[in-house]
Amino acid sequence: MYQTMESFKTYEQQSPLRKWWNSRTFIQKRLIRLFMSMLVLVICIPLYHMGLFGTVEGPLHPSRIGDNLATMGVTKTHSMLFFLFFLIIALTWNWIYNLVSHLSGARLTCNKTDDEGKPCGALAERRKVVHRKTGEKASQYVCAQGHKRPDAHFHPVKKGTFSNTLWVMALVFCVIVFFMS
Ligand SMILES: [Zn+2]
Repeated sequence: MYQTMESFKTYEQQSPLRKWWNSRTFIQKRLIRLFMSMLVLVICIPLYHMGLFGTVEGPLHPSRIGDNLATMGVTKTHSMLFFLFFLIIALTWNWIYNLVSHLSGARLTCNKTDDEGKPCGALAERRKVVHRKTGEKASQYVCAQGHKRPDAHFHPVKKGTFSNTLWVMALVFCVIVFFMS
């Protein structure tokens, strides 16, 4: 568990956006948040007046959008396929990314433990080696510290709050399109 946490952190810290956000002061964070809320509000007011939320009559009223889409030849099948495709992508992007990373030997850290049982955790690379005695090919993992090991620790990309919200929303839209329309 310790190992997982430790290596997870090394990967988490690499996001430049998070780094930038963490380097802001408390006041700066408050101001940026306030600015973002104002921005969302400014964008939403005209959309509200054009009827996007279905509360006032306007060109963006949901039923009007539906009519427009129908006249453009967009059928129920199209929207079904669209939301299903969207759901599949939202659900599987990190699985695919992890599979590719795994196959190409990326996102690996060294598993070698020191005397206290603490893992090395340095980035490791996969290499193919041929055993002299048997002539068999095998994978070997070499880290920045020069440790050579037959195994390494893989760090899969996990879905964050935003990704999870996105696929749940896609699922909700799918249910609406498939069962309620
Ligand atoms: Zn190492």
